[in-house]
Amino acid sequence: MTIAENYETIRNRVSAACARAGRSPEEITIVAVSKTTGIAAIREAFRAGVRNFGENRVQDAEEKLCGLLDIRPAFTFHMIGRLQTNKAGLAVKLFDVFQSVDSVKLARALNERSRRQVPVLLEVNVSGEESKGGLKPDEVAAAAREIAPLERLRLEGLMTVAPIVSDPEMVRPFFRKLRRLRDELGLRHLSMGMTDDFEVAIEEGATIVRIGRAIFGEQ
Ligand SMILES: *Cc1c(COP(=O)(O)O)cnc(C)c1O
Repeated sequence: MTIAENYETIRNRVSAACARAGRSPEEITIVAVSKTTGIAAIREAFRAGVRNFGENRVQDAEEKLCGLLDIRPAFTFHMIGRLQTNKAGLAVKLFDVFQSVDSVKLARALNERSRRQVPVLLEVNVSGEESKGGLKPDEVAAAAREIAPLERLRLEGLMTVAPIVSDPEMVRPFFRKLRRLRDELGLRHLSMGMTDDFEVAIEEGATIVRIGRAIFGEQ
């Protein structure tokens, strides 16, 4: 299957999940996670209509962007991985959206180093797995209160990475929990759902899904 075919399949599956949930596919932004691919695959996806890409490392993003300058204004790069505070200055030059802000310290660093308004999402560890990054659910409200006044950041929502399970139904409670938190905070976006579980995430209210393998293939 080509990237274009994969992307079409994903769009159809997004539409079907929306139909089941009584939602419109226009509510959903598909972020194609290109972290395991290179410039050629990103270009191919771009030609197929993909306009949002996810990367998890500053260095990789920098290298890829150097080869994509001609189309750069026409797509957005989403930071979806762990970011060290000392790389905030470079990162704000490369990324359009920060989905994985997991501390007030990082938010402050991004705010300090940015020259423009930066949309950010707070990453929440809803499953409590030790290996995962993200704020604990009971830390999110306090972090949001501290981040809200930062003048160059726009806090737009919450993001989570669900545990790896055999049956996507098993992660539904985690998506529900993130949605409840988002509703309590009155935020707009809910970034949840990946290749194995995005349909359940859409049924539970996701507005952003982050799809890697199902678009670019297993690497
Ligand atoms: C890799 C990654 C994805 C995409 O995962 P797939 O299972 O390949 O769709 C989404 N979100 C984050 C944070 C990732 O690191």
